[in-house]
Amino acid sequence: TQYVFRFGGGVSDGDETVRGNKNLLGGKGANLDGMASIGLPVPPGFTITTEMCTAYYANGQTFPESVRAEVAGGIAHIEQVTGKSFGDPANPLLVSVRSGARVSMPGMMDTVLNLGLNDATVEGLATSSGDARFAWDSYRRFIQMYADVVLELDHGAFEEALEVAKEDQGYYLDTELSADDLKALVAAYKKLVEAEWGKPFPQDVHDQLWGAVGAVFGSWESDRAKVYRRLNNIPGDWGTAVNVQAMVFGNMGETSATGVAFTRDPATGENAYYGEYLINAQGEDVVAGIRTPQYLTKAARERAGAKPLSMEEAMPSVYAELARVFEILENHYRDMQDIEFTVEREKLWMLQTRSGKRTAKAALKIAVDMAEAGLISTDEAVLRVDPMALDQLLHPTLDPNAPRDVLTSGLPASPGAASGKIVFDADTAERFNDMGEAVILVRIETSPEDIHGMHAAKGILTARGGMTSHAAVVARGMGRPCVSGAGSLQIDAAGRVLRIAGRTLTEGDILTLDGSTGEVMAGEVPTLQPELVGDFGTLMVWADAGRRMKVRANAETPLDAQTARDFGAEGIGLCRTEHMFFDASRITAVRQMILAEDEKGRRVALDKLLPEQRKDFTAIFEVMAGLPVTIRLLDPPLHEFLPHQESEFAEVAEAAGVGIEVLKQRAAELHEFNPMLGHRGCRLGVTYPEIYEMQARAIFEAACSLEVAPVPEIMIPLVGTKRELELMKDVVDKAAEEVFAEQGKRIDYLVGTMIELPRAALMADEIAEVGSFFSFGTNDLTQTTLGVSRDDAARFLTHYVDKGIYARDPFVSLDVEGVGQLIEIAATKGKATRPDIKLGICGEHGGDPASIAFCEKVGLDYVSASPYRVPIARLAAAQAAL
Ligand code: PEP
Ligand code: MG
Repeated sequence: TQYVFRFGGGVSDGDETVRGNKNLLGGKGANLDGMASIGLPVPPGFTITTEMCTAYYANGQTFPESVRAEVAGGIAHIEQVTGKSFGDPANPLLVSVRSGARVSMPGMMDTVLNLGLNDATVEGLATSSGDARFAWDSYRRFIQMYADVVLELDHGAFEEALEVAKEDQGYYLDTELSADDLKALVAAYKKLVEAEWGKPFPQDVHDQLWGAVGAVFGSWESDRAKVYRRLNNIPGDWGTAVNVQAMVFGNMGETSATGVAFTRDPATGENAYYGEYLINAQGEDVVAGIRTPQYLTKAARERAGAKPLSMEEAMPSVYAELARVFEILENHYRDMQDIEFTVEREKLWMLQTRSGKRTAKAALKIAVDMAEAGLISTDEAVLRVDPMALDQLLHPTLDPNAPRDVLTSGLPASPGAASGKIVFDADTAERFNDMGEAVILVRIETSPEDIHGMHAAKGILTARGGMTSHAAVVARGMGRPCVSGAGSLQIDAAGRVLRIAGRTLTEGDILTLDGSTGEVMAGEVPTLQPELVGDFGTLMVWADAGRRMKVRANAETPLDAQTARDFGAEGIGLCRTEHMFFDASRITAVRQMILAEDEKGRRVALDKLLPEQRKDFTAIFEVMAGLPVTIRLLDPPLHEFLPHQESEFAEVAEAAGVGIEVLKQRAAELHEFNPMLGHRGCRLGVTYPEIYEMQARAIFEAACSLEVAPVPEIMIPLVGTKRELELMKDVVDKAAEEVFAEQGKRIDYLVGTMIELPRAALMADEIAEVGSFFSFGTNDLTQTTLGVSRDDAARFLTHYVDKGIYARDPFVSLDVEGVGQLIEIAATKGKATRPDIKLGICGEHGGDPASIAFCEKVGLDYVSASPYRVPIARLAAAQAAL
């Protein structure tokens, strides 16, 4: 196996199967090779493949002998292109060693820069660069990074030594340290290494290299990388590649710089270059958020009212070259690019390009703009937008007219608005979130160790760091609003106190962030619903043109139905009628029905409910004007409608007109050990047909009263046998005939069933003889197939996902392998009996993109999702079909 592939200097190893192969070369490696081969200035280097990472772990974290020769060949290649030699004191080659997995994992894995420096080569570097200060600064940075990343020594000690060196001289900035100061600092660092590591700092450059390569592979299994993978569904067996590349220096004085750029604005999608750079700095300085970077373009600088010159102004010719590269890269990769570059003494070098992470808003705008410009097709535009990312757009923004108690503002690092309780560390964020509290995570700056807290938080606020700081990048990726670099915050994390603008806030106080403007406000600010026009509307039109399945909504109130319509629902796939029974104006009649001693008593109560249900259905039919509406007859066990607390019994008994003892006794009678498998679903209809009769009558009376008659689809829950469905269909048909006779009018309707028990799926051919549609109730079907209670699963399912027992929570994303088989069986058998049987899904999975892809594959006619998920489902259904 070939484990090393070279790039740059006119060389590009590997054939068509390797070129651009991110699985093998990692994203960074594939694109470095890609940029080099289209003639862009890339420092020469080589990539050690992800297969090597897998082999490294398979062989007890050791390297096969063959790879040593390959790496030596890689180094020789860099030496040949640069004319320098590795470890040569006269003309030393320095390299960077960076990780690069298939997909980017910002800040999760390790990097070592300036590798190849030792006590001898540092002198050579001083001579060859003509800059002793630069050489010693590079050496001290290298020792610091190597000690942290490879030797895993406490980096605090090194930072302290640096601070001490500055204080001794009365300096404020690192840049004030002279060559001699830095030389002394290097000596101090080396002592620190020896004291903590027990051995002197490695002087052999090859040992340095293998140490760094091992550390990068090792970082793949670090805790933070594992957490990131879990949150982002990245498989652990992908591994990372390692990229070794000639160093170029952005810290060689005022004509050198380093920067990060996007070819379009990653927050808004605006077609304008966007980025930050620092003069006389090395790569990590920009991302680490230690120095506040300067703007790339003049326009951005002026808009922000900032003073330090933009790159466009300070380095006009290099900037022009960079802009040309941006255009080439966008046209080549046909997507917005996220770029790292370095300028070494006015020469531009490209260090990385990749498709840029972006907010949902930007993703939409970029996809639509690129399709309209003809760079991609409309189908590609539809495929480019992550359906789940729409969630960000479908959620509220701050009401512009609501009063705001603005405390300060920072950078608008990730859009959206959020309110929550202040917390100062990631663990507390997680703990509060587990208790159902919305939190805002407030940090001086974030690091990869904070990732679980960022995930748990509704929003993130940092005192330091730019738009490309860790906090900003990660928050945008997660869709969390983020305000970064709010410099006026004084954070005392240990004391759990935040001081802003002369005010003092403590843990638990409410804060509101507007990640779109950068404002930070005290208290909670009300929010507004988003508008669904513009790019969103355009993309949805393209998506609708591409999809086969219909998208309906789960809704039981006219308001929800209207929201669903506004979001583009093409009918209702599940109206859960029990929700109507909980309404304050009806619950008493419901309870009277439950408490009645006989059918006669029940009918008296049901007569009171009939006009109420009729009103409900009429309102929903009106909103859905002529679209299909699936109404499910009563499903939950009756005791759910009775009070559970001692304190409620008296009042309820009085309202229902029975003695408290009668009520208690009836409640006790109805108690079940396993309510989910108890007297619920069609089992209620079998024992009390009059309940379903009343509901059916209400549906038909409502339908007949309308000018545009809907086609009600009456759905029987929890059916396991054909006979159950037959009995219930008779009840419905009889009610229909009675109403039609009374009204002198007939309407079309369907009677069908949910498939939510394994038996129903297995016997679907028989059941289809009676039912004319199936709706997969995958919440219950998952519960009954897995034998996992949907109400109790939260306690242990995360462990199951952590341990890889299920790839994802099966109540969120369909267990395609298991539950999916039952759906396939039922669909096939149902169609065999009744070729035109209507098939849909109405469990939560109907709004989950991966599950929707499965529904497309098995040929369902529609998916039904909660109203806010309807656009997500429309886009996911289109992507599944394209
Ligand atoms: C289901 O079981 O998937 C379903 C949609 O019904 P409910 O969630 O009401 O049980
Ligand atoms: Mg169900």
